[in-house]
Amino acid sequence: MNTIAKPGRVLILGGTNEARELAAALERLGIGVISSLAGRLGQPRLPAGEVRIGGFGGAKGIARWLAEEQIAAVVDGTHPFAEQISASAAAACAAADVPLVRLERPSWTEQPGDRWHRVDDLAAAAELVPRLGHRVMLTIGRQGVSTFAGDVASWYLIRCIERPDGPLPPAHELLLARGPFTLAGELALVDQHTIDLIVTKDSGGAAAESKLEAARRRRLPVVVVRRPTHADVPTVPDVASVLDWMRTTLTHGSAARRDR
Ligand code: NAP
Repeated sequence: MNTIAKPGRVLILGGTNEARELAAALERLGIGVISSLAGRLGQPRLPAGEVRIGGFGGAKGIARWLAEEQIAAVVDGTHPFAEQISASAAAACAAADVPLVRLERPSWTEQPGDRWHRVDDLAAAAELVPRLGHRVMLTIGRQGVSTFAGDVASWYLIRCIERPDGPLPPAHELLLARGPFTLAGELALVDQHTIDLIVTKDSGGAAAESKLEAARRRRLPVVVVRRPTHADVPTVPDVASVLDWMRTTLTHGSAARRDR
């Protein structure tokens, strides 16, 4: 992978394991990289290389920042459920004529024997929960937990990295933990708390997948929130594919832009 022409700095919009892996890979290749985090977590896992933290002020703010920092390419490595930043990045890169690729881990796929209930959003998930279970493992991250606050009929094991903002369901236990999670650990949690329903976003990726295998083994229903749709930008599933994209885009693309 040492054939990428040193393109100038690459901006990674981060907040995911994959974005961190990409930052490390670009650092190893000697390509200048700056990762951007929203600043939601008090103690984020920091990627290799330079890091900036906090919003840009929408698409216009990103476009301005790209020009000021002379960014050669942007990789949107944000979480599949982070909608606004991805939309802003797409608009900003189009306006600033900076190449953009989206690094998005594939969705999870249902397997034989799974009892998945797919819903469009967290509100639909919250509506469905009381009909499917009573002891719920809620693994949707810290954002949106308050959508379940009105459910007085169910008990919740709420697992997230840091304490969620806003109201929580009245009957709950908060488990602050950061993945990856093992199958043995997930089975132990399910059994210990007599969980009868799991609620998750379709985040994808191996780090959080073992809860789905635990549900499969215990024949538990799972409410799976579908991913939002994103702007139509080139999308790749892993770090190696981003490097391939960079190899072609930053060689041919920069030449094409120079010639315009
Ligand atoms: P969002 O709704 O798409 O973003 C809201 C605003 O936060 C954006 O408009 C932007 O502010 C700022 N922002 C978001 N990501 C940023 C980044 N990487 N760098 C700089 N500013 C950023 O995003 P979200 O759902 O709140 O997620 C926030 C971050 O947490 C994302 O970076 C994402 O990768 C990570 N994350 C999200 C989830 C999830 O389930 N949503 C799960 C795990 C990790 P301005 O408009 O001011 O630029």
